[in-house]
Amino acid sequence: MSNYQVLARKYRPQAFRDVLGQEAIVTTLKNAIKFQRLAHAYLFCGSRGTGKTTLARVFAKALNCQAPTDEGEPCNTCSSCREIASGNSMDVLEIDGASHRGIDDIRQINETVGYAASSGKYKIYIIDEVHMLTKEAFNALLKTLEEPPPKVLFLFATTEPHKVLPTILSRCQRFNLNRIPLEKIINKLKRIATDQNIDSDDDALHLLAQRADGGLRDAESLFDQIIAFHEGRITVTTVADVLGVMPKETLFALDQAGKEGKLAMAFEIVHQIFSQGKDFIHFVESLTDHFRTLLLIKLSGPNAPFLTLSESDKPRYEASSKLYTQEQCVTILDFLIEAQSQIRFQSSPRIALEAILMRIMRTHQRLPIEFLVRRLNELEQAIQGTPPQPAPTPHQPSPQPAPNIHVQPTLEKNTSQAQQSSIPSVAPAPKVIVTPTPALGSITEDPTPTPRELGIRNKPKESTPLPPQSQPPPSPTAQVLQNDMFAPIPPPLTTETPPSAPRANKQHRYDTILQFAAIELEGTIQKKQINPR
Ligand SMILES: [Zn+2]
Repeated sequence: MSNYQVLARKYRPQAFRDVLGQEAIVTTLKNAIKFQRLAHAYLFCGSRGTGKTTLARVFAKALNCQAPTDEGEPCNTCSSCREIASGNSMDVLEIDGASHRGIDDIRQINETVGYAASSGKYKIYIIDEVHMLTKEAFNALLKTLEEPPPKVLFLFATTEPHKVLPTILSRCQRFNLNRIPLEKIINKLKRIATDQNIDSDDDALHLLAQRADGGLRDAESLFDQIIAFHEGRITVTTVADVLGVMPKETLFALDQAGKEGKLAMAFEIVHQIFSQGKDFIHFVESLTDHFRTLLLIKLSGPNAPFLTLSESDKPRYEASSKLYTQEQCVTILDFLIEAQSQIRFQSSPRIALEAILMRIMRTHQRLPIEFLVRRLNELEQAIQGTPPQPAPTPHQPSPQPAPNIHVQPTLEKNTSQAQQSSIPSVAPAPKVIVTPTPALGSITEDPTPTPRELGIRNKPKESTPLPPQSQPPPSPTAQVLQNDMFAPIPPPLTTETPPSAPRANKQHRYDTILQFAAIELEGTIQKKQINPR
């Protein structure tokens, strides 16, 4: 039988200095030994592969070592250290809480706990997956835990501390292990690769470490799997193949295709995912991660401290981030987070995924709502520049109410002069005034206009009486809009003169923008529809 040892076991830390990413905990434990301030029980919590059991073993070794170093590290050469490392120690007993979870198992501990350690030092019980113990077992342990015989220590490890009884928790010193930082995992993998004479690309190790999500053991196990699968240099493609993930190039290509409007790319990518049997849920997750990275780059640049990009990835992400606006990134992220939770339940995930990709690609053609509001504001200014709208008097109600268009205060300043100069109700055809829109800084809340805000309230602005017969019928477009969503529709922008060319143009612009509003509110706008000219 081969004596091959998996990487996770072969490179398991044997001293405090080898434990990755848990510096504060290591310092606390070393000091506890140094100053002889030991608790009866310690609880190590953390997600899988972060080093809970490893830390407990190193701690046990350091406690019982016959010749610890000045830094409080176990020597790893004395008989105690060697016995603990090989799992043969009489004084350090490791119990798997998942398979020894009953009251009888705990009774055995209670019966042996009174015997002194053979080495004369500490008797240590390491219980892994302690949350698996039954309630009765926990209760049986309680008394021993509260007042254990001298020189008896319990070290517990668990991934789910919330399942441990509070009465147990309160008797333990608790340590929460961090997820191991990406950089540290990559460095450890590099050391292993060098040690094993394995050629590997940095990007490949980066992808591998990323997939392990802060768990060193996962990273090492995956590395084992890749070494077994592949001979020769380990590249990012190798890793992507073994992990069943799409390479990052696919995501960069998606960004580019979206910018160029090549929607067929969505079908191509989904075809690859399904024909190669890749995990589509994981693909959506990596897509979300991709857009998070793009947004972060837009917000803080490629060297932001919480971005963990490899040097070769940075320029590629930077280039991709330039294809989107900040707003677009936020919109896509929002959408992807929602899609992530829904795609699992789709009866045809393939079509759902195609739709997701096309929706992302079409973001380039979608109008941001801020743009729409700006266009509406422009139009409002144009209307403000015309003669004031006639309004019904109390005695003679108008068949159609006059519009009262809500304008931002900053806009009113711009247009007040135009208003004043156009007070006479019978005026020559006014000029359409479209001034550049002021910055949107004045919009502090959700800028999306409601239909009510877009239109059209009954409250009259001016009290000029209006002869009812002077109202020409609304344009066909306006009638369509009225039927569709906005009621009532404003009367045309003139009182007596028939619609002249500039006014017709203005009406047309108004209708067009209202149509944009209607379309955008349904979430299906095409950029080419915006500019009628
Ligand atoms: Zn030793």
